[in-house]
Amino acid sequence: MAKILVVGSINMDLVVRVPHSPRPGETVLGGDFETFPGGKGANQAVAAARMGGEVTMVGRVGNDNFGDTLIQGLVENNIKTSYVIKDSEVPTGIAMIAVAADGENLIVVASGANYEVSAEDVANTRDVMRDTDLLLVQLECPLDAVTAAAELAKAYEIPVVLNPATAQPLSKALLSNVEVLTPNENELMQLSGEDDLDKAIEKVLSLGVKNLVITLGANGARVVTDEIDQHIPAYEITAVDTTGAGDAFNGALAVALAEGKPLLEAVQYGMAAGALTATRHGAQPSLPTRDAVEDLIESSRHTSN
Ligand code: ADP
Repeated sequence: MAKILVVGSINMDLVVRVPHSPRPGETVLGGDFETFPGGKGANQAVAAARMGGEVTMVGRVGNDNFGDTLIQGLVENNIKTSYVIKDSEVPTGIAMIAVAADGENLIVVASGANYEVSAEDVANTRDVMRDTDLLLVQLECPLDAVTAAAELAKAYEIPVVLNPATAQPLSKALLSNVEVLTPNENELMQLSGEDDLDKAIEKVLSLGVKNLVITLGANGARVVTDEIDQHIPAYEITAVDTTGAGDAFNGALAVALAEGKPLLEAVQYGMAAGALTATRHGAQPSLPTRDAVEDLIESSRHTSN
C-alpha cells in the first residue's frame, strides 16, 4: 500500500442555505444549519484513503467537540491520526458558508488551530516521514510548517506534491523541493506574481518545480515539465457540484504517484477522481473509491478507441 503523509488543514464547515446572499447590514433567514467535515488537508487525506492509500494526517484541531468529531471522521476513513494534535489554547478551524439559491457562496474562515501547526510539529513526524512514500501539502497551514515539511521530505528523498491553495507568493526555498505543483490557473498567477500564463509557467519552473500540473476544471488539465507541455481533456460527466474536485484530484494523484505510476497516468487518476466528485454534492461525501476511478478511466479508454 502506498504510504501518504498529509500535512494540512482540518476544518468544520458550518453551512446554511439562504434564498440570496445577505447585503452588508442585512439579516437573511436561512434553512437548517448543517455541519460537514472539511479543510483541504483533511479532504485530500480522505481522497487518498478512498483511493487505497495508507494515509497519516498531521495537523491541529482544538480541544472541543468539533475537534473530536473531525478526528473521529478521519479514523472512520482509515486515516492515522496520532499526529493530529489537540491544541489546548485555540479552537478547531471553521468555515462559515452561506450557500445562496443562485449558487453563489459567501465564505468566512477562522483558521483557528490550523494556524498553530508549527515547524516543530513537522519535525516530530520524522519517524513516519522517513517511512512514507510521498508528502502531500497545501497552504492552509503556516508557510513555515509547510516549508519545514518539504525540507524534511527532501532530506529523506521523498517526493512532495504541493497543492498551492489558498494561493500566496512562494519562495524558491519551498518550490525547489516540490516534485509536482498542482495549482489552478488563478493560483498559478497569484503564487508566481505574474499576470501572463506563459510567464507564470516559466517562472515557476525556473524556481525549481519539476512538474507543473495546472487543473482547469471542466477543461481538464495541462501538464508542463522540462520535456512536455500537454493539455489533457477532462472526463465527460454531468457536473452537479464541483466542490472538492480539486481535493479529489490531489489525493488520487498522490496515491498513483506514490505507487510509482508515471506522471501522465497519475494525472488521469486525479482527473477521473475530480470528475466523479463533481457528479455529487458536497466535498468529503462525494470523494470516489478507487474502483469507481478505475472504471471511469477504463470506460473512457474503450470509448476513445
Ligand atoms: P479546483 O477546485 O482546485 O480549482 P478543478 O476545478 O480544476 O480544481 O478540478 C480538478 C480536476 O477535476 C480538473 O483538472 C478536472 O480533471 C476535474 N474536474 C473538475 N470539474 C470538472 C467537470 N465539470 N467536468 C469534468 N472534470 C472536472
